[in-house]
Amino acid sequence: MRFDRYDNRAAQVAAALVTAARDGLTLAALRGVIEQFDLPLHVDPADLAGAVALADELTPLFGSPADATIAAIDDRLATLDVRPRLTTHDGRDPHLHFEPDGADTVTRLRVNSLMGLAAVVADAGPQRLGRCAAAGCEVVYVDVSRNGRRRFCSTACANRTHVAEHRARQRPRATRA
Ligand SMILES: [Zn+2]
Ligand SMILES: [Zn+2]
Repeated sequence: MRFDRYDNRAAQVAAALVTAARDGLTLAALRGVIEQFDLPLHVDPADLAGAVALADELTPLFGSPADATIAAIDDRLATLDVRPRLTTHDGRDPHLHFEPDGADTVTRLRVNSLMGLAAVVADAGPQRLGRCAAAGCEVVYVDVSRNGRRRFCSTACANRTHVAEHRARQRPRATRA
């Protein structure tokens, strides 16, 4: 399995968009995602409503049971207007564009997010689209770890959870003492 592929990057964009929208997506946060991944997309204030709807649509595709993830992504793929092109625009290496030429920013984000998520699922399985297991954390991620057993968005969330689990195990002993 190769996880440095363009489709993985598109899936990472989807995860970043969902994560940016967890407390309500702002124009600045949307532009932050575009900049983080150096996407050749222009964002207008008019794009925000569509991006919010897209983030809502993508949210349940992370951290759900395998069958539900597969069915939900497949349902959404059926709604896409996909016109694959091989392109070298702006001096970039040859890469695939899936959206029709001239598609608007939100359409491009949607097509590429869903194609990227579908490719990750097809390559590595639906469990690769995860949601942080730490209490109160809604951050989602694409699990690119070797063994595919990632549970947390960050070391901070892993440590916080492990400390809490450790304390929970200690408590009965402390009560007895
Ligand atoms: Zn391109
Ligand atoms: Zn987390």
